[in-house]
Amino acid sequence: MKADHFDQQKLLALAAEDVALAQLAHRRRTLPELAAVESATAAERELADAAVRAETGVRDLQREVARLEADVETVRARARRDQGLLDSGSVSAKQMTDLQHELQSLARRQSDLEDSELELMEQLETAEKELAEAQEGRAAAGAELERAEQRRDDALADLADGTARHEQARADAAATIPPDLLALYERIRAQTGGTGAAVLKARQCQGCRIELFGKELAAVRNADPHEVLRCDNCGRILVRTAESGL
Ligand SMILES: [Zn+2]
Repeated sequence: MKADHFDQQKLLALAAEDVALAQLAHRRRTLPELAAVESATAAERELADAAVRAETGVRDLQREVARLEADVETVRARARRDQGLLDSGSVSAKQMTDLQHELQSLARRQSDLEDSELELMEQLETAEKELAEAQEGRAAAGAELERAEQRRDDALADLADGTARHEQARADAAATIPPDLLALYERIRAQTGGTGAAVLKARQCQGCRIELFGKELAAVRNADPHEVLRCDNCGRILVRTAESGL
């Protein structure tokens, strides 16, 4: 295949854009901001779980305290009723003794219940403090996650800008290249997964870094400048310039 020597050199601009686009794609895949969002998400989720656990703990204790308060109230009501009966003077001597015993036992029961309630109130206070801390931690983690997402979005927007610029430059470069030469370049590019042409610099193919010598070098040296040459090693179109060392 033959193509104008200068058109062949235009392939280098196209290849440079393909390299830039591949680098941008690689950066997009390996963006540290993506990993940062992932770990911030995990941290936020963990603290949210801790807050939910703390909330449950507080609610359980509150329920327990309410239950004890109800028990205390039941005991008090019973004591009030007993005391009322005693005060009414309408009970027999035996009933009076029984009521007095019951009042003593109710007083003990009330005291025990109040002790337990006090203990629970202390536990509740501690649990409420832990809950406040957990909620604070969760809020801080949520704010950090938002910042991480913002940084990621900024980085992605930068990459999108760069990609759009290089895609335009690539299209501009491609528009100046004869269709059959461009088609060959694209075919090779699909095979190499990178670029379809490389410059020959100081006798070295810059696509695969293999240096030409012997018969191969002689063939390149003697070839018509408009002949489209390919690297025997990587298959890329080998573009000759003043720096090719021929
Ligand atoms: Zn090569």
